[in-house]
Amino acid sequence: MHITILGGGLTGLSAAHHISRAVPTAQITLIEASNRFGGWVQSTRQGVVLEGGPRSIRPGRSSAGAIMLKMIRDIGLESSIVPVPRDSPSARNRFFLKDGKLEPVGVRSALTPRTVFSVLTEPLDLFRPARSDESVDSFLTRKFGHSIAALASTGLHGIYAASSSDLSAEAILGSFYKAQSYRSVVLGLLWMKLFPSTASKRTTATAAAHWAQLGPLGKEAATWASYGLQGGLATLTDHLASSLRADLRLNEKVLSLTPGTVRTSRGLITTDHVIACIPPAELAKIASLPHLTVNPSTTVGVVNFVYPAPPSQIHPEAFGYLVPKHDPHGVLGVVFDSTALPGLDDHSVTKLTVMMGGPYWSTYGSSMPPNLVSPALEHLHGVLPALRSLTPTHAIPHLQRDCIPTYLPGHYARMRELGAALQPWHGTLSLAGAGYYGPSVNDCVASAAAIASALANGQHPTGLEWLNA
Ligand SMILES: Cc1cc2nc3c(=O)[nH]c(=O)nc-3n(C[C@H](O)[C@H](O)[C@H](O)COP(=O)(O)OP(=O)(O)OC[C@H]3O[C@@H](n4cnc5c(N)ncnc54)[C@H](O)[C@@H]3O)c2cc1C
Repeated sequence: MHITILGGGLTGLSAAHHISRAVPTAQITLIEASNRFGGWVQSTRQGVVLEGGPRSIRPGRSSAGAIMLKMIRDIGLESSIVPVPRDSPSARNRFFLKDGKLEPVGVRSALTPRTVFSVLTEPLDLFRPARSDESVDSFLTRKFGHSIAALASTGLHGIYAASSSDLSAEAILGSFYKAQSYRSVVLGLLWMKLFPSTASKRTTATAAAHWAQLGPLGKEAATWASYGLQGGLATLTDHLASSLRADLRLNEKVLSLTPGTVRTSRGLITTDHVIACIPPAELAKIASLPHLTVNPSTTVGVVNFVYPAPPSQIHPEAFGYLVPKHDPHGVLGVVFDSTALPGLDDHSVTKLTVMMGGPYWSTYGSSMPPNLVSPALEHLHGVLPALRSLTPTHAIPHLQRDCIPTYLPGHYARMRELGAALQPWHGTLSLAGAGYYGPSVNDCVASAAAIASALANGQHPTGLEWLNA
């Protein structure tokens, strides 16, 4: 069987990895348009490791977390893991910006008389029927009021770099959204915990089996809040690209796709199966399929700074802080890299990353500044006074255009229609990557692994089977 993988980001490389193991007889061709593998994984090593894209991975307890760790172990990178234990200050301490000051994120800060009142009175909502998909902001405001919706909005800045009034409640809130089918979210969550459905029991059992496969590594990872890799996350993509048993091609763009054939900038490829690991909007340019251009993708400014002083002189030992909307510089959050992933570099310098833009440049009405470094510095000087007298040794801006998908309300319904539209492809096209189920690196890798395992079992996956879980 000849399998062609489109896109050499983390999803495409993981698809090649999982297929080469699950279907050892398969001939694999991977086509990447740019001159490097890794996609949004963009680590640079300039004395210290700087990330322009993803930096840390949360193991969690889901199947996806275990699948990622297994891949890391299977390719021999277990010893490169830099864990962040759950009880470490960087895992425990997270802040949000309130009136220019860092306030700890935690149950105590969320428990105001107003939020407690809204949670306690939500079960009285029993008489209002569940609604079809709506935005996270509208769902949470309707169910719990403005204070809780505002807290969620700040959190979503850090994950999706998007406005909670644009994001789909069904796609983002998971069981929290599903619980509304019991009319009250609070009572629904309680009911679902006490009497889990068959599907939910299956999901839990599958995750437990994935974690059990990891043996001692799984037990150890249960104590981690997150982890990184020595040399940055590009250690993973570089290693995959150099060790894969596949025909890996750079500087070759896929131009069109029909069942059984892939036309690229270098010629025609006849193939038995295609796994599209390119963003949906790119897939829309080469194949006639519905809904691929509905979700926009957010554009984020990422500015890495390095200062010649230890972090203890600059900021608290913590992961970093999130910024609620209305920041005058359009900042979404700041990661204290030196303490967020302690053990990655030497601690005589301080690394910080400012994330900005996203909904400010698409939804909140501000425009992209001509350069990213100045507003990022102005913001930092306002929050961390010790920086005012220091000059950074590195100030590296990355403008990440259209980098994280914003799942608009109705996403799941559109994905079901997309799945139906794949029928005429007779099981020869599968879709994987950030554009469909979830944007985290774990989601991307798990989407590729699921397709490989279905192909190994003689099935014809669309990659959208998660919709039926
Ligand atoms: C700034 C930022 C920070 C993030 N932080 C985190 C984090 O800390 N933790 C986390 O879990 N996740 C994080 N994410 C999300 C995660 O990094 C991405 O969702 C993930 O890397 C996407 O991988 P992908 O392979 O699906 O897509 P991509 O990385 O977009 O790869 C797709 C590839 O396809 C290629 N391509 C496109 N069109 C064609 C074509 N026609 N022909 C051939 N090739 C083509 C592209 O060149 C690209 O290399 C972050 C993302 C960003 C942008």
